[in-house]
Amino acid sequence: MIHFFLGYCRAGFEKECAQELNSLFSIPKDEKILQYPGYVIVPLKEDPSIHDFFSKKYLFSNHIFLRQGVLGLGELSFQENVKDRVRPILGILDKNPYINDFYDVFCEFPDTNDGKEWSAFCQSFTNALRGQLKTNQKWNENSKTRLHIFFENKSHCYVGVTIKENSSKHFMGIPRLKLPKDAPSRSTLKLEEAFLTLLTAEEYEKYLVSEMNAVDLGASPGGWTYQFVKRQIHVLAVDNGNMDSNLLKSEYVSHQKADGLKFLPKNKVHWMVCDIVEKPSRIIDVVLSWIKNQKACYFIFNLKLPMKKRYEEIQLSFQKIENYLIQNHFKYTLRAKQLYFDREEITVFLDLYQFSKVR
Ligand code: SAM
Repeated sequence: MIHFFLGYCRAGFEKECAQELNSLFSIPKDEKILQYPGYVIVPLKEDPSIHDFFSKKYLFSNHIFLRQGVLGLGELSFQENVKDRVRPILGILDKNPYINDFYDVFCEFPDTNDGKEWSAFCQSFTNALRGQLKTNQKWNENSKTRLHIFFENKSHCYVGVTIKENSSKHFMGIPRLKLPKDAPSRSTLKLEEAFLTLLTAEEYEKYLVSEMNAVDLGASPGGWTYQFVKRQIHVLAVDNGNMDSNLLKSEYVSHQKADGLKFLPKNKVHWMVCDIVEKPSRIIDVVLSWIKNQKACYFIFNLKLPMKKRYEEIQLSFQKIENYLIQNHFKYTLRAKQLYFDREEITVFLDLYQFSKVR
């Protein structure tokens, strides 16, 4: 019996995560979304079929603050000296006979300092559980279902599932990225994560092709520019600050000292990315000016979140862009996530289909 939905998020953003989920679920009267550091629990009124839930009701990529969304099957409490935690979990699975097998299992924990204390335990528990699932013939590489055991602490866990094509493929919803030795700044990981998280596999293949071109607003010292250069995409880096001297040696980079909030290229480019730290409304105006002047096909930009009413501010920003796009009959895709490498900000991807032919 499914009676809750479990959402992982960055600690400190539980409220925004819950606000987004609120509009999706009809929450039973007298109940509300429970918020804990790094995750939220949504009590469910009805018992949805897993298929209907993941194919009709819920779309992971629509949620900005959600790192992973798990449909709950049950929860378990353990005595401190318990020896066998596997058997009760298998018991929960047996009560849900329509879930036959799994292609993977993640034993996870909240992304907090407390949570990290039982990460080693979760790792060894994964191995034990995987072995038992294989023995019980519940392991199938062709299955579409992943099993999640979320230990809020060592003595209490939630058991649930995700579906391959409608979830984050990463453990705890966090991609493990390694900072390249020659990258000019850590921010490079943010754009790499944005490409991996906000673009579908097809978009990634199609939109990041060598010899394309990009403008990087607020580029210094060059972490984002580096991501394009490594894909042999030409970049015009716009920033009054200096660029990394090694990066500037690349034939793919040129640097212009200018105000990125006013800059428009002469010709249309494939990509516009913007990492200028400014009020969201100011960044939205920049993006709108690029759209009105038809200067790029694909956009990735950061929106810095205010201290208060963060979710409302994002909604206002999106409304402003979408109102323009809808009134002017644009076909578009707009997706946003608070990435692992984002702190007090979110990262937005905008794809304007009809601009796809550049020069
Ligand atoms: N994306 C860069 C990287 O990966 O190395 C880091 C960018 S940093 C967060 C923000 C940059 O925006 C700073 O280098 C700053 O000089 C630049 N900046 C701020 N206001 C700007 C403006 N009006 N025009 C152009 N650049 C601006």
